[in-house]
Amino acid sequence: MNPSDTNDVVGEYADATPADVTRALDAARGAFPAWSHATAQVRADVLGKAAVELLARREEIGELLAREEGKTRAEAVGEVMRAGQIVQFFAGEAVRLTGEKFPPVRAGVDIDVSREPVGVVGIITPWNFPIAIAAWKIAPALAFGNTVVFKPAELTPATAWAFVDILHRAGVPAGALNLLMGRGPVLGPAIIGGVDALSFTGSVATGRDIASRAIARMVKLQLEMGGKNPLVVLNDADLDTAVDCAVKGAFFQTGQRCTASSRLIVTDNIHDRFVGAVQARMTKLNIDHALKPGTDIGPAVDQRQLDTDLRYLGIGRREGARLIGGEVLERDTPGFYLAPALFTDTHNRMQINREEIFGPVASVIRVRDYDEALAVANDTDFGLAAGICTTSLKHARHFQAHSQAGLVMINLPTAGLDYHVAFGGRKASSYGPREQGRYAAEFYTTVKTTYISS
Ligand code: NAD
Repeated sequence: MNPSDTNDVVGEYADATPADVTRALDAARGAFPAWSHATAQVRADVLGKAAVELLARREEIGELLAREEGKTRAEAVGEVMRAGQIVQFFAGEAVRLTGEKFPPVRAGVDIDVSREPVGVVGIITPWNFPIAIAAWKIAPALAFGNTVVFKPAELTPATAWAFVDILHRAGVPAGALNLLMGRGPVLGPAIIGGVDALSFTGSVATGRDIASRAIARMVKLQLEMGGKNPLVVLNDADLDTAVDCAVKGAFFQTGQRCTASSRLIVTDNIHDRFVGAVQARMTKLNIDHALKPGTDIGPAVDQRQLDTDLRYLGIGRREGARLIGGEVLERDTPGFYLAPALFTDTHNRMQINREEIFGPVASVIRVRDYDEALAVANDTDFGLAAGICTTSLKHARHFQAHSQAGLVMINLPTAGLDYHVAFGGRKASSYGPREQGRYAAEFYTTVKTTYISS
């Protein structure tokens, strides 16, 4: 269903059963010997072909993505382009995978350390980046010779189907990539019960449940979860840069990003100017149908997410914060429209500053100086992204060294990442090896150490 227009049914998709999971696992197991021993060139060619089609069809698939998820056309086309770049990158990685050769410490004993695929990999993804996240998991899995059972989020089957269709037609052999659409709590346990490794992106609660099941079976695990990402704004920041980082980081893509800036930590002397300027920018944002020209921000993904956003707006008010914006909006088409919401007069112990909301909602936390800002930024259960806006090299470098997040942004929004470098966080945000770039090989391969006596 289209969250910008609930009268628009995007499509009807299958709802898999646990019996389908068994079939998919059997197929993946059966396809593994041939795919894992195919030459790297074969795997590179398949991914390369899929990348070309993804990039060529980015407008069309982007429109589909915008219709089913609610991000704007520009955001959705950008995401499909990113997926194409990721698949292209891992086409190259297939032929760049290396091992190591060590000097012998015993006479006549050579040592090779090589990398091999892990086996059958389960991939479970969220709805908020339905093609980019699928791409940054499936592409390295296939590039390095694994076979895959892929379960996308319930809300975004159309994009997942389009992506898997492209990969199949590009030459991924039967059984090597299996798509299972359906409900997480029904299919998840069955998938975990039969894979060698599992890569998950989603909420902390689901991640915990998956982890307990996976670890009971000794399944190799990678979890990417939520965030409560701080953006520090210091007195010496360039105000326009800071406002731009805050508005883009907090509200674009309807705030439905794990890397969204939800805590704006602002020092005393710039606080009032910053809040005034953010408020002025908020009034200019156009919240409307994702595919309408001129829309800056689309709707919440569904009624449940909108209800969550509104529940937290109530919590924040009850906690004594002052709310700017946050009205439910009516547009020409029925959808889940919410004006961006900014809480001021908040402190870091409030519930609104501890828990991920996952909507266009941010809080301003006023602090004395840089030292307090850094302490507040790190005082969170999460550790995905953290940003700072400052013209002080000293503070920027200190923040880089002392932030307890996996991603640090200096004079940039906390959201907005490149495809060729490590992605992931710390604390409750992430578990296991990093994703993306050449770091992906850590999860999607396993190391073999061979001793050779000649
Ligand atoms: P979610 O946890 O509800 O669902 C994610 C996926 O897990 C879906 O495919 C769902 O069907 C499946 N699932 C649900 N219950 C399951 C179970 N018991 N066993 C196995 N699978 C199950 O998350 P969501 O609402 O789709 O996505 C939003 C969350 O994702 C936010 O917390 C956001 O921060 C996080 N996220 C994190 C990153 C990151 O890289 N750190 C990126 C994007 C989104």
